[in-house]
Amino acid sequence: MANLNIDSEKNRTYDAIVIGSGISGGWAAKELTEKGLKTLVLERGRDVKHVKDYPTTNMLPWELEHRGKVSHKLLEENPVAGKCYAFREDTQHFFTRDKEQPYVQDKPFDWIRGYQVGGKSLLWARHTQRWSDFDFEGPARDGFAVDWPIRYQDIAPWYSHVEKFSGISGNKDGLPNLPDGEFLPPMELNCVEKYFKEKVEKQYKGRNVIIARCAHLSKPQQIHLEQGRSQCMNRNLCQRGCPFGGYFSSNSSTLPWAANTGNLSLRPNSVVHSIIYDEQKERASGVRVLDAESKEMMEFYAPVVFVNASALNTNLILLNSTSNRFPQGLGNDNGLLGKYIAFHNYRAKISGEYDGFLDSTTVGRRPTSGYIPRFRNVHKQETDFLRGYASGFSASRRVVRSYDGIGHELKENMLTPEWGLWRVGSHMMGETIPKESNYLSLDNENQDPYGIPQLKVSVDYDDNDEKMIQDFFEQLTEMYTQAGFTNIKTRDTHQAPGLDIHEMGGVRMGHDPKTSLLDKWNRLHACKNVFVTDGACMTSTSTQNPSLTYMALAARAVDFAVKEKKKLNI
Ligand SMILES: Cc1cc2nc3c(=O)[nH]c(=O)nc-3n(C[C@H](O)[C@H](O)[C@H](O)COP(=O)(O)OP(=O)(O)OC[C@H]3O[C@@H](n4cnc5c(N)ncnc54)[C@H](O)[C@@H]3O)c2cc1C
Ligand code: SF4
Repeated sequence: MANLNIDSEKNRTYDAIVIGSGISGGWAAKELTEKGLKTLVLERGRDVKHVKDYPTTNMLPWELEHRGKVSHKLLEENPVAGKCYAFREDTQHFFTRDKEQPYVQDKPFDWIRGYQVGGKSLLWARHTQRWSDFDFEGPARDGFAVDWPIRYQDIAPWYSHVEKFSGISGNKDGLPNLPDGEFLPPMELNCVEKYFKEKVEKQYKGRNVIIARCAHLSKPQQIHLEQGRSQCMNRNLCQRGCPFGGYFSSNSSTLPWAANTGNLSLRPNSVVHSIIYDEQKERASGVRVLDAESKEMMEFYAPVVFVNASALNTNLILLNSTSNRFPQGLGNDNGLLGKYIAFHNYRAKISGEYDGFLDSTTVGRRPTSGYIPRFRNVHKQETDFLRGYASGFSASRRVVRSYDGIGHELKENMLTPEWGLWRVGSHMMGETIPKESNYLSLDNENQDPYGIPQLKVSVDYDDNDEKMIQDFFEQLTEMYTQAGFTNIKTRDTHQAPGLDIHEMGGVRMGHDPKTSLLDKWNRLHACKNVFVTDGACMTSTSTQNPSLTYMALAARAVDFAVKEKKKLNI
């Protein structure tokens, strides 16, 4: 009997454990298994196998009961997830149901989640812009957050590493505020977007319009074919799951690659409750898990733990990992765990029309858009708000059908559609300031279906965000006007934080254990074998999309962890 118990503990012991199988967890798993570590990936959601579990991927519009629209009932049942632009009849199965996974909104916060193998890598819009030193040096320059413990040159080789494997389409634009990467051929701006680019770049020094960099295989290389992925067909049905592996997801790329090493054990339906701290060894020894189906509590052990449950869930797990040594949550000696949450401000939108290029239109689809990198407060502080915003830019032309008349006239009108004017639009992607007053806590009164305290989110906009919105409206209106666009309309959606889906912080990196939770290698200052490499680790938010940076930080931290393990420091 005694032997059986020993075996059972041995069977639940690995070289490394990764919590979460989404964008960052997939990368941690790939790197750990490639480096020879027997790795257990714990995922709270169901399994989703590439291609096999994409039920709508090849459905035609008329095969969908509501032609792609979401029913009122589903929207009523999902007041938060239903606000996401990507929540549709053909994609809703990859979104977490609001009712099933409750959380507390101390202030309104629309938390968009994808609890399944692959996480939100099945839902993302795949924009992958590198951060620059203007981002990593920003807090030290402006004093709006603690200094990042790394600079661009620390992460640049790891950006290259993940870009080559993931496949990033982009143009080498040579901009200091948006470093170039290892790009596959870029997608193309259309004629009106090119026209706007020319106007802006001629008129304004330091302002650019480029084609956004995105995680699509515009020209697959050997490394992508070896993953079983192929050319992106520009179908624009990505959020259904792409059977070609045309875009990067954990399911099509990092997880199968990790599995091929023979070192991966993937356990879906495993809700991590907390990390186990061994007071004698002064290290984490493993994790406690609730089986989502049986609700049975079990433990798994490893000398290295990577926490990649997505920013807010990683905070939740660490806050819930209490012990005599860490009564306020793992690594939380300074009481800052869960604080300094920041996000991107996507509230501001602008649209207009252009009556040129009436002999042209677009043909086919393109799974990305134009991009205006941040131009405010880059080289010097020039406004009364801190930091700045990037912006999308896209132009398209639609067919206009007249429904005037009755009988024959109506039929004729409908049969003779006309092309409308070009419509142009942009949305703001603003950097928000990490503040102690934007924080997360555990609500012990309210528990989730697994008996774990619910996460309470207390996060809001501030004056800086309001001023930035006004500046976006002013600057973009001026740029649109200069380009000859008409019928310009601005709109503040007043959406709650969260809907941007770029929540970050709570376990921020920094030099000093008094003011940060993680060191420059993404490991807890106070618990040296636990690494956090998802959005929770971010010290500030930049204006660029963050996921590429999570991937690069994950790969970099694994490299360090494995070297430390070999030196017997872990
Ligand atoms: C519609 C949409 C568009 C987006 N567009 C972009 C974009 O263009 N560019 C960009 O950079 N980002 C984009 N994002 C954001 C991007 O998806 C996230 O930044 C990214 O997925 C975060 O990676 P992650 O590994 O931290 O989390 P996830 O990918 O969410 O993975 C976390 C995983 O952990 C699991 N998990 C959580 N808690 C536990 C637990 N207790 N135990 C076990 N497992 C757990 C989850 O089920 C999930 O599978 C978008 C997101 C959405 C939804
Ligand atoms: S656009 Fe590319 S990645 Fe998206 S579904 Fe189509 S082929 Fe796949």
